[in-house]
Amino acid sequence: GARLTSVDIAEQLPPGPPAAAELLERYQSSLTGVFGAPQAVLVRGSGAWVWDAEGNEYLDLLAGIAVNALGHAHPLISSVISGQYATLGHISNLFTSPTQIALAEKLLSVAQAPSGSSVFFANSGSEANEAALKAVLRHRETTGKRRILALEGSFHGRTVGALSLTHKPAYREPFGELISGVEFLPFNDLDALEAAFADDDVAGIFLEPIQGEAGVLALEDSYLVRARELTRGSGALLVLDEVQTGVGRTGQWFRFQAVSGVVPDLMTLAKGLGSGFPIGALVSFGEQVSALLGAGQHGTTFGGNPPATAAALATLHAVESGGLLAHVRTMGAHLAAGLRELPQVAQVRQYGLHIGVDLHPLPGVEAPAKQVVNLARQRHGLIINATGDTTLRLAPPLNLTPAEVDEALSRLQAALVGNSAHRPSAPSH
Ligand code: PMP
Repeated sequence: GARLTSVDIAEQLPPGPPAAAELLERYQSSLTGVFGAPQAVLVRGSGAWVWDAEGNEYLDLLAGIAVNALGHAHPLISSVISGQYATLGHISNLFTSPTQIALAEKLLSVAQAPSGSSVFFANSGSEANEAALKAVLRHRETTGKRRILALEGSFHGRTVGALSLTHKPAYREPFGELISGVEFLPFNDLDALEAAFADDDVAGIFLEPIQGEAGVLALEDSYLVRARELTRGSGALLVLDEVQTGVGRTGQWFRFQAVSGVVPDLMTLAKGLGSGFPIGALVSFGEQVSALLGAGQHGTTFGGNPPATAAALATLHAVESGGLLAHVRTMGAHLAAGLRELPQVAQVRQYGLHIGVDLHPLPGVEAPAKQVVNLARQRHGLIINATGDTTLRLAPPLNLTPAEVDEALSRLQAALVGNSAHRPSAPSH
């Protein structure tokens, strides 16, 4: 017969692992170059460690940008995904499955959502925000309220709806007109918030409780509390984007739970939810909000498929049974204390294992954060990233060990010393 076997497939692959340089060349000629040159070709991971195609080992304090909540290749996630796929792989949105239902119930339970609340599963943070935006647009249609608010410095994704809510001009401007009616308020500015609600014309406001891409900048509790009061008072929807802060990253299941009196109408999740398996979610709080996206008003083929929901269910189970929320708070404090001792560090913003580090400017060195990131990776086997010229961001696995915290601190210290003392103008390649 014409059945393709694994031997046939293997014959189409080149023999042995190709060299990193060759892989990068093939990358350049076959992938759309939206992210520029990749930093390395990664071939294997385990816990907080990854290896590249040249055999170099790295301590990964970025964890796929806050995605690998349990580290790389966690045995539980690996066995759950392969077991689920072997049992039932994909079902489409015409059907449901036990893992999908159990995950929705578990999310509503840890979010302490009231009865009538519900979950929509997507495949990414952007898609979760697209669904949230559609709910707000429905609300806009039915109430006649015209304005949609977001904040300066926001990042909600790069699909067109999510991009409409993302502030950075460099991301938006090349694409001309986006979704109409979105306004950006200055960050943490209570007066501007009050003024925006003065005419009762707001359909919804999108907030990241902590802006990750902007450098780990937290909204004041008082700002979130006031946003909740104003939205409730004027019939606007409060949307919290917890794509980066959710699922234990800050030492709570969700960041809003650290702020008393603040429960959103809509919350978006992705990143760490599936421990590296692509899944996003929109949680609608209460019956009325859940009804905004009714039958036929939204959809996705892949969203909530069995392996993805099984991976997420296992992630929530591991966070809970491993006591990871408390662990994250302890490890985050330990890491921050070490960071604050480094003379090159000006300020540390630490919320669990969601950490931004401002560096002192280095005389004559442009964008020191990017140089430190490159030095740390190339010379000291440490993966972190930069969110601005002088800000580093750390988002390690939630199960990072104390020994790994110490190791990361000593590698970062070496990179910082190397940068300021020995290689003030290190090339960034
Ligand atoms: N919201 C926030 C707060 C994010 O940090 C990101 C990703 N950095 C997104 C949305 C978009 O998520 P995704 O890349 O999965 O589409």
